[in-house]
Amino acid sequence: MTLSYPINDRHRIAAPQLDVPARLLLGPGPANVHPRVMAAMSLPTLGHLDPSYLKVMDEIQSLLRYTWQTDNPLTISVSGTGSAAMEATLANSVESGDTVLVGVMGYFGHRLVDMASRYGAKVEKLTKPWGQVFNLDELRQGLETYRPTILALVHAETSTGACQPIDGVSELCREYNCLLLLDTVTSLGGVPVFLDQWGVDLAYSCSQKGLGCPPGLSPFTMSPQAWEKLQNRRSPVANWYLDMNLLNRYWGNERVYHHTASSNLNYGLREALRIVAEEGLENRWQRHYNNAKMLWEGLSEIGLKCHVAEEFRLPTLTTVRVPDGVDSKAIARQLLTEYNIEVGLGLGELAGQVWRIGLMGYNSRKENIVLLLKALQETLY
Ligand code: PLP
Repeated sequence: MTLSYPINDRHRIAAPQLDVPARLLLGPGPANVHPRVMAAMSLPTLGHLDPSYLKVMDEIQSLLRYTWQTDNPLTISVSGTGSAAMEATLANSVESGDTVLVGVMGYFGHRLVDMASRYGAKVEKLTKPWGQVFNLDELRQGLETYRPTILALVHAETSTGACQPIDGVSELCREYNCLLLLDTVTSLGGVPVFLDQWGVDLAYSCSQKGLGCPPGLSPFTMSPQAWEKLQNRRSPVANWYLDMNLLNRYWGNERVYHHTASSNLNYGLREALRIVAEEGLENRWQRHYNNAKMLWEGLSEIGLKCHVAEEFRLPTLTTVRVPDGVDSKAIARQLLTEYNIEVGLGLGELAGQVWRIGLMGYNSRKENIVLLLKALQETLY
């Protein structure tokens, strides 16, 4: 072969075979992946329209409906991390000039505000100190004042460890004629979620936390009411990749090519959801709660305090107050380098004040709690 140009070899590094440490991932996510999920992902890659792969897609849809407790026909996995399905909920439901009311009680509420404003929404905020949650009176007051078309809430705020109660919220939304959008990124697969009972219209999650997969996919669902709003839009969805009209033609009966979905990642998600169904939601939620309780008691025994009142504390993500005079970053680094354990640092308003400990999906196990408490005690004292 005669080449027109000499090849530039400057970047042709002799990279060694990859070797990564086997960490115990007890931060805000990703969590460790279930070995069965890893095994499923190594099955042969299939084409995104192969009949065998279409069956995998159908099973994912059904198992996601179970895990979310919804009958919504449009329930799919979006190719992309949690932020992709997060953006999809807003891209499809918001039109320029719509008012979106966001309950901001942590970092991810702010992300909803940012995303909604990029789709031309008039965004209004209700705020709470990080670590607290909204009550129904506060939400009613917000709906009364701003009359939004969408109320967006974070069910499980990963930056604070607080769980927003959702019972009764959709009744308010119906009264004020608005849709309810819910972030279930840190709750799906670990904390009770009843999308249909709660009257949620748009929800999203991620693969890498309570479900026990690697990052890369994000569950998305919309109610018939949200679908109707989508059908009555005055303007096309401003994001081609996340337009549910197009994605529905791939996930629904038509099976029209939309994008080259990763079959391997979706095998992993299918396996993770199969594990959820085998365990059963009630058992799974109870396991997460029991293990979180064991962690909370153990933390208290070694003199550490939780940031969130127990009533609103997430079983999947615990924020632990950093004792006075302790450098939270130095301790986290020591846990990583000496014990191979990852914990999260505080974000935003809670930077330097808390550690974030995740017990999610496959990682919500007693032996992990014992290891972490011992390591924390040894590094702190
Ligand atoms: N929402 C919440 C509550 C989260 O915790 C996260 C990530 O941790 C996201 C949204 C965004 O998900 P991702 O980082 O997978 O894009």
